[in-house]
Amino acid sequence: MEKTRNAELYQEANVYSPGGVHTSIRNVDPHLIFTKAEGAYMEDVEGNRFIDYQAAFGPFVLGHNYPFVNEQVKEAISRTDLFGVGTTDMEIELAKKVCEHVPASEQVLFCNSGSEATYHAIRLARAVTEKKKLIKFQGCYHGWHDYVARNMLSDWDKIGERDPGSAGMMDEAIDNTLICTFNDLADVEETLQKNKGEVAAIILEPIPHNIGCILPEDGFLQGLKTLCSEYGALLIFDEVVTGFRHSIGGFQEIAGVTPDLTTLGKAMANGYPMAAIAGKKEYMSRFNTQPGGDVWFAGTYNGHAVGTAASLATIEMMEKEPVHEHIFRLGEKMRSGITEIHDMLNIDAFVAGFGSVWTTYFMDFQPKKYSDLEYNNGDLYVRYRKKLLEKGIFKMPMNMKRNHISYSHTDKEIDLTLEAIEDVLRELI
Ligand code: PMP
Repeated sequence: MEKTRNAELYQEANVYSPGGVHTSIRNVDPHLIFTKAEGAYMEDVEGNRFIDYQAAFGPFVLGHNYPFVNEQVKEAISRTDLFGVGTTDMEIELAKKVCEHVPASEQVLFCNSGSEATYHAIRLARAVTEKKKLIKFQGCYHGWHDYVARNMLSDWDKIGERDPGSAGMMDEAIDNTLICTFNDLADVEETLQKNKGEVAAIILEPIPHNIGCILPEDGFLQGLKTLCSEYGALLIFDEVVTGFRHSIGGFQEIAGVTPDLTTLGKAMANGYPMAAIAGKKEYMSRFNTQPGGDVWFAGTYNGHAVGTAASLATIEMMEKEPVHEHIFRLGEKMRSGITEIHDMLNIDAFVAGFGSVWTTYFMDFQPKKYSDLEYNNGDLYVRYRKKLLEKGIFKMPMNMKRNHISYSHTDKEIDLTLEAIEDVLRELI
């Protein structure tokens, strides 16, 4: 069989990098080598065009290569780049914007990735409370570091146990992270009670989009806040996916629950590297960016002109244009359109989502927690996704993650996608 250009380059990539990719979940069959991206579309080295819903795991809220963001970045780097000491006019402006929009943000610090932001938030919570343990939820993802890199997509009989991918991590860090069930306040309270006086923080994605879209039940987020104040722990909302995507103030603004600390990233800079930790001033002032602060916070590239200018431009777009109105309308159109197709073809599937995000679970009820996903037919999803790819629709490789709509998607892309979904499902059943 003749080798395609994609396959040839993938083979070469493997010579120079383990697995030929540069983050753990990019190695997915078929291996495509991308060369272009614009608006709602991506193109591979063979000239195949795809409507993109993966959005590089979430950042593209406006769309790829968004002209206004690129112009602002180009303008910024034509006059500035990075400074070692001091701060910049753009950093001050951006910090002000974040504090203006995000309810939890009395003060904010910038870094470059979501993992850095959650690391800093957890370290700060430990310093503030002088306690060690952390509660996280099965299925939530908060980055690659030892404090949180456990219990994401665990095997069904290993829920709550340590994951296999933890070689090289510090046992003390992993074992001090306690695993609870999302939407189960009784489980959280029991864990806090058993570890009384030892829990520094509860960290969660307010909507666990790393397992698709599990919505918090009424009272769950507020219940966590109440438990945190009863047990002297800090509440951390990891809004790296939900922040700026679901609203300019994050999901916390929609839910009306303000955490003690929050982490931001992805959609904040529409694809450029940027992340942030924000929270109450009394806690944030413990960082040693403040003279006398005793909690380490550093990073050579923090506040780089590229991410800062991109964030300012993205926020400006959200302030001036109906970004959220547009992506929410298309999200609703996509979810109801797919649901109609399922009903028409009698397919046992549930379309979950919020705003611009959706996930098709091949199971016949709405999941409320990770263990419900045992009923999801993941193999069927893999076949479904591959067939959609052949029709030019690019979705997340597994339905334990979510798909995203951007401001560059229009009714045309949604209609084309719904048509393709109907064709593929007819072929599969
Ligand atoms: N938190 C959440 C909720 C995430 O989804 C991610 C990345 N998918 C992270 C943190 C880590 O961010 P990064 O990959 O930028 O380190």
